Amino acid sequence: MEQTENNIARKIIHIDMDAFYASVEQRDHPEYRGKAIAVGGSPEGRGVVATASYEARKYGIRSAMSSRRALQLYPQLIFVRPRFDAYKEVSRRIREIFARYTDLIEPLSLDEAYLDVTEDKLNIGSAIEIARQIKMAIREELQLTASAGISVNKFVAKIASDLNKPDGFTFIGPSAIEAFMEQLPVEKFHGVGKVTADKMKRMGLFTGGDLKKLSEQELKQYFGKVGTFYYQIVRGIDHRAVQPHRETKSLGAEDTFPHDLTVVEDMHAELEKIARTVYARLERYSLKGRTITLKIKYSDFKQITRNQSFPYPVGDLDTILHTAKQLLAATGPEDKQIRLLGITLSNFGEAGPVSDKPVNPQLSLFDFEG
Ligand SMILES: [Mg+2]
Repeated sequence: MEQTENNIARKIIHIDMDAFYASVEQRDHPEYRGKAIAVGGSPEGRGVVATASYEARKYGIRSAMSSRRALQLYPQLIFVRPRFDAYKEVSRRIREIFARYTDLIEPLSLDEAYLDVTEDKLNIGSAIEIARQIKMAIREELQLTASAGISVNKFVAKIASDLNKPDGFTFIGPSAIEAFMEQLPVEKFHGVGKVTADKMKRMGLFTGGDLKKLSEQELKQYFGKVGTFYYQIVRGIDHRAVQPHRETKSLGAEDTFPHDLTVVEDMHAELEKIARTVYARLERYSLKGRTITLKIKYSDFKQITRNQSFPYPVGDLDTILHTAKQLLAATGPEDKQIRLLGITLSNFGEAGPVSDKPVNPQLSLFDFEG
């Protein structure tokens, strides 16, 4: 089964904080713990619930519900005014945790993000292990819980993170995807709203398996352009790349050598290997940068960086390698003992990712919920 463009299997994690605003309030205000609380507007006005604690959800209280209705469902419900500055600060710290593992972070809201860990910074290699560590760090450092979905594409990872909330952890590997999609109720497909789900059910389409019986042509005929997306996704195919936007500030590679390098030719040979890795990563994420940085660590652990900026974004192997060699030459590398070399591209700016647009028509003010 084809999974990704260029036949590179991706490792994608979707992290979603559990009842985020409400959990932050319960963390910061012990008197709210174990209580049904609703963060949002007051029931006296026309306010709506932004996030309900899990205790409140037992009474049927949900996000986007009017606060008045929520109070009818449970008169003892505690209403809490949102503190967006506090949530933003927690969100920033969550992203710091993500950034220990990858720079390819695509936030969907304050409390939810996709991570591409196909190549993680710590060379852990296992998306399952990385997700486990991230959940643990969020718990220990922020006293909050998150749910993680792990798969080879964004669509399945996102659905997976929702399966065992709160504190969920769900891995759906390549061999399990098609069977998983076949049994999935159509309303669970994110991107399928209530109106579309109702239409599908009227047509006798209740699961992914039902959708799979239709040709791409038929799906397009019934549902418009998004029909192609349905056709692919029921087969477990989702080519959308994790789009770091401004979150990715740099992308690079480095290598520490078993023996210090003292000969310039050897340094060039290593730079070429590193440049190829950087180039492959840039290619994969369709990124170009205007600044190339060379990092050198000497045998005494002294470290320097040198960079060159261009008036236009660059990302081709020749330019990366040539620039790195020039930057190295300018440091006078002869007779130095070098233990590490690294090359980084940054300053992506507007030249950022050029991959396909995210298919996320349901993303709304209330998608931070979950
Ligand atoms: Mg959430």
